[in-house]
Amino acid sequence: MKVAVFSTKVYDRKFLSDANSPTQHELVFFEPRLNRDTAILAAGFPAVCVFVHDQVDAPTLELLASRGTRLVVLRCAGFNNVDLQAAADLGITVVRVPAYSPYGVAEHAVGLILSLNRKIHRAYNRVREGNFSLDGLLGFNLHERTVGIVGTGKIGLILGQIMKGFGCHILAYDVYRNPELEALGGKYVELPELFANSDIISLHCPLTPETHHLINAEAIEQIKPGVMLINTSRGALIDTQAVIEGLKSGKIGYLGVDVYEQESELFFEDLSGAIIQDDIFQRLTTFPNVLITGHQAFFTAEALHNIAETTFANIADIEQGRPCANEIRAQVSA
Ligand code: NAD
Repeated sequence: MKVAVFSTKVYDRKFLSDANSPTQHELVFFEPRLNRDTAILAAGFPAVCVFVHDQVDAPTLELLASRGTRLVVLRCAGFNNVDLQAAADLGITVVRVPAYSPYGVAEHAVGLILSLNRKIHRAYNRVREGNFSLDGLLGFNLHERTVGIVGTGKIGLILGQIMKGFGCHILAYDVYRNPELEALGGKYVELPELFANSDIISLHCPLTPETHHLINAEAIEQIKPGVMLINTSRGALIDTQAVIEGLKSGKIGYLGVDVYEQESELFFEDLSGAIIQDDIFQRLTTFPNVLITGHQAFFTAEALHNIAETTFANIADIEQGRPCANEIRAQVSA
């Protein structure tokens, strides 16, 4: 099939080309994101392949449909950037990669926890400048600390397993209980109890209307003073302005985030020569106890391999008229 592949970096091209060698689809790589302005690039392509920041809204889908596109292939799990109802109305099929990197994301969350606790991000710079003072680098043992995990699906469970290995107690909150987490000794509690008793809170639930700004001023009131807050899930789970106030007052002791509510303006691009206009993001970067990574938690060789393999398996299913387990339809919630 002829596929217009949007939002591609060098690494995407490598992994997708390697995985395509047996199937020999005609891939044309475009660096820009798909949106209303760039949809014209896909004229005559029956399929487009997109990632998390492409804007697959109704006008874009109409432009695609009018020029022959019948399939949208997501290289990610989340589909909040796709208007599924408009796709259905236009007869466009949408498929995704539901899981590609649960270990990678959980391990990245652990990386943020360890770095923030032991101030490795600060020690790295100090030692390079010949400053071997330990002032300000005091950490704490993870052993016997309590980790609160919000969302205990694939990633949250793996985080629980890893933190159990450190000797942590696990508190959990989810709309469904995961027996594997309970078998590990994890205890399900309501959110206020998790907030009040966790030394580290890590977010692993999807972004939905119910979880939007789950960490807001009211939640910050309930947390244990000095808590470490980790978010590798979706930026809008956190009300960033409220978290900044929590950091300023000291109620939040550490913040580690791989995602940010307005990240589509920033992440995945080299803006090192630009003046960043987002004052909230810039304020976050000024705190010594805040560690931000640019949506890289998924970014392992295994994940890029899995994404590419599943992408082509999805295309093959649709091309050959087979039911595709990874097809998503309007009534499914993100
Ligand atoms: P999953 O579907 O396996 O688990 C999500 C869990 O959240 C489920 O157990 C679900 O019941 C629970 N949940 C749903 N609504 C909830 C609510 N209102 N309150 C509490 N829990 C709720 O998903 P996963 O593979 O573990 O991924 C978790 C999240 O990680 C994804 O939603 C995605 O946003 C994020 N993610 C981030 C990256 C990255 O690179 N940073 C990569 C992949 C996924």
